[in-house]
Amino acid sequence: MNVLVTGARGYIGRAVAHRLADAGHAVVGFDLAPLVEEGPLHTASSIRQLVGDVRDEEGLTQTLQDHAVDAVVHLAGKIVVSESVTEPLAYWDHNVGGGIALLKAMVAADVRQIVFSSSAAVYGEVAPEPIAEQHRREPMNPYGRTKLTMEWMLEDLDRAGAVHYVALRYFNAAGAVPGVTVERHHPETHLIPNALTAAASGRPLKIFGSDYDTGDGTAMRDYVHVGDLADAHRVALDHLAQGGASLALNVATGLGYTVAEVVASLERALGRPVPTVAADRRPGDPPLLIGRGTAIREHLGWVPAHPDLDDITKSAVAAHRP
Ligand code: UDP
Repeated sequence: MNVLVTGARGYIGRAVAHRLADAGHAVVGFDLAPLVEEGPLHTASSIRQLVGDVRDEEGLTQTLQDHAVDAVVHLAGKIVVSESVTEPLAYWDHNVGGGIALLKAMVAADVRQIVFSSSAAVYGEVAPEPIAEQHRREPMNPYGRTKLTMEWMLEDLDRAGAVHYVALRYFNAAGAVPGVTVERHHPETHLIPNALTAAASGRPLKIFGSDYDTGDGTAMRDYVHVGDLADAHRVALDHLAQGGASLALNVATGLGYTVAEVVASLERALGRPVPTVAADRRPGDPPLLIGRGTAIREHLGWVPAHPDLDDITKSAVAAHRP
C-alpha cells in the first residue's frame, strides 16, 4: 500500500516509517522539518520524505493525491504533557486543528483508512490494575483532552461511514531501534534520555514526585519498546486493509515500572550509577499508567517482542549519544 506517515521524523514516526517500509509498503514520510540535524536515518529507499504542516489542508490533499495514498498513519502532534498545561492553545491547534485538516484532506482525496496515534493520557487518573479500553476516558491534562477529542471525531466519522480507523493508545514508548531511531526530543523531557544524559554529565536527574502511592513513591508507567510499538501500526494497517472494523486499542505490556525501577535498570545496563535528586511532582503527571494489552492481541495478534524493562533500557543505552 501507499502509506502517508505524518510525524515521520519523530522518535516513534521513524520506527513506524521503517517498519512499514520493511513490510513492503511504499511510505511517504511527512513532517514539519527535514531530517537535517539528525542525519539521514531514513535509509530505506522506499521512504520518501516530504516537508509540510498537517494543518495545511490544501497541501495535504495535494500530497495524498500526488502519491496515490491508500492509508494514513497520523503521528504528527505536540506531545509534552507539562507544556500542554502551560500552552494549551498550541496543543489544540496542532493536535486537533491538524487532525481536522488531515481528515478533511483525506475525505477530499478519498483516503478512508487511518491509524491514529492516541495516548494512554485519554484515561487520566487510574487505578493500580492495568486499564482496559472500556475504562472511563477522563483526561487530566490538555494533551490528553486533544487526543480524546480526536478519538471522538474519528468515532463520528466512522459512524458516518467517512473513514475507518484504528486509534492506538500509546503507553510509554521507550528504547531504540539501531540505525533507525533513538529517543531524543528538543527539548528533552522524557525519563530514559534524561537519565542517560544525567549519567553522562554528572548533573542529577530530577525525579518528579517521590510521594506517590506506588510502593517506592515514584510514578509508575508501562514501557513499550519503540520497535514493538511500530509493529502495532503495521498490524493495524493490515486490519483496516482487510476491511476490519474501527478500533481503539491500548498498545501496552500490562507491566508497570516505577521511575526508581527504570533508573535501577539503566544503572545495570550502564554499569554505573545515575545521579538523581528528588523534585516536586510534574504538573499533569498521573501517578500510574499501566495498560491491559489483551484487546490488541485478540484483535490484531500483537504481542510485544521486548516487554522486559532491561531489554528496553539496554537498547536505549546502546544507542544513546549524549
Ligand atoms: N520523569 C522524571 N524525571 C524526568 C523525566 C520524567 O522523574 O526527567 C518521570 C515523569 O514524572 C513520569 C515518568 O518519569 O512519572 C515518565 O515520564 P516521561 O516524560 O518519560 O513520559 P510520560 O509518562 O510523561 O509520557
